[in-house]
Amino acid sequence: MSIYFRDKTSPEIGEYATAKAMIILPVGIVEEHGAHLPVDTDAVVAEKISADIGEMMKDEIPLLVMPAVWSGYTSAVLRKWPGTVIVGTRTFADMMADICGSLISMGFEKIMIVDCHGQHRPMLDMVCKETADRTGIYMSVTSPVVFSKKAYEENRRTGQGGSCHGGEWETSVMLHYGQNVRMDKATAEDAIRYHSENFAGDATRGSQRVVWSTWGIQDSRTGLYGDPTLATAELGGIIVEEIKRNYRQFMLEFYKHDRKKI
Ligand SMILES: [Zn+2]
Repeated sequence: MSIYFRDKTSPEIGEYATAKAMIILPVGIVEEHGAHLPVDTDAVVAEKISADIGEMMKDEIPLLVMPAVWSGYTSAVLRKWPGTVIVGTRTFADMMADICGSLISMGFEKIMIVDCHGQHRPMLDMVCKETADRTGIYMSVTSPVVFSKKAYEENRRTGQGGSCHGGEWETSVMLHYGQNVRMDKATAEDAIRYHSENFAGDATRGSQRVVWSTWGIQDSRTGLYGDPTLATAELGGIIVEEIKRNYRQFMLEFYKHDRKKI
C-alpha cells in the first residue's frame, strides 16, 4: 500500500489522522550545486531518504510521507549562479508553520521534518517552537547529515573541507540514488581551505563553536564548497544505510514517546 500522503483520498487521510500516524515531511530547496549536480539536489535527497525510511518503517508504525518542500531560503550570494530560487526567511518560516499547522488541524501529532538544506535549521527550529506554543504539539527536526556522521567519517576519502555544499557527501548520495551527476564536471577547486577551533569548514568534521556562514569565510568560484571528485555511489550507499539505521531508532523513540507517561 502507498505510504504517500498525496496518493490518499480525503477520507483515507482522516483515517491516518485518527490512527495518529507519523508524518514524514522532507524539506529541501532548488539552488545551484555547481556544474556537476542538479539544482534540485537538496529536495531530491530529502524526498529519497524520506521514501526509504518510510518504506523501512511502514510495518512498524503508521506513517505518511509528504511531498518534498522544494522552495526555501538560501544566501543571496548564490544568485551569482543560475538555478537558485530564493524564498525569504520569514516567508519560508510562515509557509512551514502553515503546512505544519494544517497537518496538526487534521489531527496529526507526530510530525518529523527531514531537513536536507543546511541554511534552514534556525527557521525550522523557530517554527517548531512557535507551533508548540500555539498548538501544544512538539514536532521534531532531523538531519540526514547528522544521522550519517559516524559511518561517513569512517569511510570518507576527502579531508576536512571536502564536505559542505555539493561536496563528497551530497555527490555520493546523489550517485547512490542514480541521479543526473556529471562527474566529468566535478572539481575540488572550492574545497574549504579555512579551518579554526571555532569554524569547522566541513559538515561533519572539525570544531564548529560559532554561527559564521561559510559564504562569508571563503569566496566560491564554482558555486561549491567541498570536494566532490572522490565521491562514489558505494560511499553513498554506506551513508544511506547509516541514515536508515539511526532514523529507525529515532522514529520508534519519537512515535512511542508520551510526555504524560514520563
Ligand atoms: Zn545541497
